[in-house]
Amino acid sequence: MSKQSRISREKSIHRTKTLFEIFLTVSVIGAGGYIIKGIAERSQTVGYSQYYAEPETSEEEELPDPDKVIYETYNVPTKDKFHGNLILVNENYRYFSGDEKLVSINEMNAEKGRTLFSAVDPSETDKMMIVEDVYEPMASMIFDFYDATQISNILIYGAYRSTDFQQQLYEDDLAATGNEESTRVAKAGFSEHESGLAFDITTYPDYDYQGEGEYVWLTENCYKYGLIIRYPENKEQITKIQSEPWHFRYVGKPHAYYMTKNNLCLEEYIDMIITKYYYQNDEHLEFTDDNGNEYEVYFVLSDDASDVTTIPVPTGKKFEVSGTNVNGFIVTVYKNENTEQPITEPTTVSEEESTGESETSESTESAEITENTEVTEPPTAYVAGQ
Ligand SMILES: [Zn+2]
Repeated sequence: MSKQSRISREKSIHRTKTLFEIFLTVSVIGAGGYIIKGIAERSQTVGYSQYYAEPETSEEEELPDPDKVIYETYNVPTKDKFHGNLILVNENYRYFSGDEKLVSINEMNAEKGRTLFSAVDPSETDKMMIVEDVYEPMASMIFDFYDATQISNILIYGAYRSTDFQQQLYEDDLAATGNEESTRVAKAGFSEHESGLAFDITTYPDYDYQGEGEYVWLTENCYKYGLIIRYPENKEQITKIQSEPWHFRYVGKPHAYYMTKNNLCLEEYIDMIITKYYYQNDEHLEFTDDNGNEYEVYFVLSDDASDVTTIPVPTGKKFEVSGTNVNGFIVTVYKNENTEQPITEPTTVSEEESTGESETSESTESAEITENTEVTEPPTAYVAGQ
């Protein structure tokens, strides 16, 4: 072997040795990594097992918790955040009209043979319309008020207003007062009446309803029908609107119950849910009403970058989703509806469900109505309110 070839052979051995060392290093690192990964995985498993190894909790944990709520997703158009029973409409939150499912109060009364009350139309153009879901609670309340007091001079004096009609009312008020801004009528786009979720009550023949005397019954009991006095005297600082005992707003039974029992106006209630009861929070608003019905309420932010917002809702439970007109949706879960006879549930006025006894009262109402229908002459000065 020549000196040259020996050197070359030595180099070759050296190269092989180096390659082997690299291979070894890589293998060691690889194996080390594998071991570390294994330890990490085992340590997780160990933590998990330890949790379940607790003898006291293991049996309970294995059983499915009947109270544990499993959520699934429900997609709603993001623009629906501007619609629903819980929308906040005030000077800061404009109402975007459209898509209201309206019915005529007087036509519904005629269809159902109800003559106890009627709606007075203050304008040539607007029929007295209201959101369909609000008609029945409103009628039930007025019928039950009659049953409790025998008073039958209630008139519906304001309900849905088109944005054009609201504009006209606003201008009329400026003309009447000579002011540059109205304190009595909301600007077009900012009145709850444009949503069709609100109505005003008045009384015949004085057209001066203040919710006093026997009429306090309506103020005190309206929550049982899902209605609230929207502008109460003790909340003027928050609503920025002077007391209007005649202005009722539909929000739905669970919410009217909670707001009334906790002395919250709509601004306060919506703000509380938005800030405290996010879906992601551990705590949702949970309460039970006087009839034993259990509710859960939480807020979901709207996905404004998308046409669709995905809302988590509990599997197998009745729920409702309403926009807030602010920044998202409020989910109401009917966790446990009391199927027993409610204690304070108002009596229904539905003809289908009427007993012989209530038919008797219906005929009494018919007599009253004849008296009322003679009296549909609206007052000369229509004071619209908000
Ligand atoms: Zn009103």
